[in-house]
Amino acid sequence: MGHLGWIEVICGPMFSGKSEELIRRLRRALIARKRVQVFKPALDTRYSVDEIVSHGDSRMKSEVVSSAREILDKLDWRTQVVGIDEANFLGQDLVAVAQQMADSGKQVIIAGLDTDYMGRPFPPVPDLLCVAESITKTLAICMRCGNPAKHTQRLVESDDLIVVGAMGVYEARCRRCFEPGVPRQEYLEFARPRAARRQNESGSEL
Ligand code: ADP
Ligand code: ZN
Repeated sequence: MGHLGWIEVICGPMFSGKSEELIRRLRRALIARKRVQVFKPALDTRYSVDEIVSHGDSRMKSEVVSSAREILDKLDWRTQVVGIDEANFLGQDLVAVAQQMADSGKQVIIAGLDTDYMGRPFPPVPDLLCVAESITKTLAICMRCGNPAKHTQRLVESDDLIVVGAMGVYEARCRRCFEPGVPRQEYLEFARPRAARRQNESGSEL
């Protein structure tokens, strides 16, 4: 009998520790002397070309692919554990690719955003949740109030689904503080005292 493969998904907003958790699991697989391969989409070369990097700066060597299918091309048949970061940039094909790898006995660990800047399901992560054996939802800290945050708030004006960036372009927000799309301008003026901001919102002159 061959090994039984499976799919683990780690999802949540930006800054919630998805990459950290993925790297933690992959390090443990290496400690267990498993053969590991790590992939990330070519779109995401913000911090490094050949590594996955967390916002807390833990790093791990990875291979870059421009599509989900390319993972199968680059897959070594001896690999036992496959890590994939930023699944939300890899498209719907990732579901079939992940299934095929799990069916052939590999442990597949996938991290990605579950919702977009409007709070909508972000393909293909919702479908990956349906085929996964294990699901972890990570939460960040809301940058406005400190509560647990499940949303990725976009801070710059754009209607594009994908705007690659991190600090200054996105921040984590909770259910109450999240504003689908781009927040009203006064919220972006972090430097101004809270009292002055409130006064302005109620319409009075500053
Ligand atoms: P993700 O992959 O989900 O974007 P990372 O694993 O890259 O998250 O980064 C998680 C790290 O980001 C945290 O350990 C912390 O150091 C840092 N961080 C920055 N902003 C936040 C925030 N708003 N909430 C939680 N962690 C944050
Ligand atoms: Zn909040």
